[in-house]
Amino acid sequence: MIYIDFDKNILDKYHKIIRCWFLRKFAGGKTHKNGYHCGNDKCEICSKSIHKVNNIPEAAVDFFKNNIDTLIIGNPSQLIKLYKEYVKLGIDDSGDIICDFFVKTGYTNWFQDEFAKDFLSDLNINTCIYCNRNYTLDILYSHTRAELDHWFPKDKFPILALSLHNFIPSCHSCNHIKGNGDKTLKRILKNENLSKEEIQQWWENVLESMIHPHDKNENENFTFTYEYDKSLNSLSVKLNINPLSKKVSTTLEFNKILEIYNAHANFELKDLYDLRKKYSDTFLNIIENNFDGIMKKEEAYRIIFGIETNEKDYHKRPFSKFKFDIIEELKKGN
Ligand SMILES: [Zn+2]
Ligand SMILES: [Zn+2]
Repeated sequence: MIYIDFDKNILDKYHKIIRCWFLRKFAGGKTHKNGYHCGNDKCEICSKSIHKVNNIPEAAVDFFKNNIDTLIIGNPSQLIKLYKEYVKLGIDDSGDIICDFFVKTGYTNWFQDEFAKDFLSDLNINTCIYCNRNYTLDILYSHTRAELDHWFPKDKFPILALSLHNFIPSCHSCNHIKGNGDKTLKRILKNENLSKEEIQQWWENVLESMIHPHDKNENENFTFTYEYDKSLNSLSVKLNINPLSKKVSTTLEFNKILEIYNAHANFELKDLYDLRKKYSDTFLNIIENNFDGIMKKEEAYRIIFGIETNEKDYHKRPFSKFKFDIIEELKKGN
């Protein structure tokens, strides 16, 4: 799990696009030559013709209109608060009309199709935010659809399907872990017959007990380390977690971070470990001292280890946090 900070200009851009879409969908009989428009005369997005949505209960439309900016650009805690306020209204959606409007019409058929790729490349986030192991660039260039995980899953929290802070650039496997949440839950509780309400409650609890990638301070509360077992001559990845941060351990556990990284113990970890054994600390010291002024430390780490060393840039290259933490450990001379 690495920290992300969405660029404000990018958020503004997509805020406008999504706002315009919602308002045109909700427009009440307001038409001009291109069909419905969002009500802002200076809007540059409206030009495309669009169908108005007319089967959503008025109370729901009012709620969405009154909270439109929070709905689109609210931070994670504002989003869950908004969701709970919406649930309190008790609007009947047994026919899944509202759910389909947000998830199918809004996210899948509109945003994902037209904007998800641009959104990802605008953000310039190259690796999965959950594991920092896989490039999301592969997803961007080799598949027609980009992969954005919904932090609040869209089948459980449909009205948050188009909320920008709910979009987490992620790889196939991490997205899959989240997608399988219901199964995991049933297995943990050894109960196949959980009600919809029980499952919903579990999701609310589990998400509140984890760190969101935008929570900076919480993200700093763990480092990777390793253990060498002499008798077995084997290496394993360990996590150093601040004991006060229960949220961090829950998050790492949920995203299976230790399992994922232990699969790399014999590769990435072993290479670093061998390097240290072979060259003692000479090699690392040379790097630390900028190769006698030839190359900066950041540059050297990028070329030699293929990683970024500044926390804000971790997302640009796979394994950045992992390798950086391990190198720090190795420098201690263990
Ligand atoms: Zn508009
Ligand atoms: Zn991942």
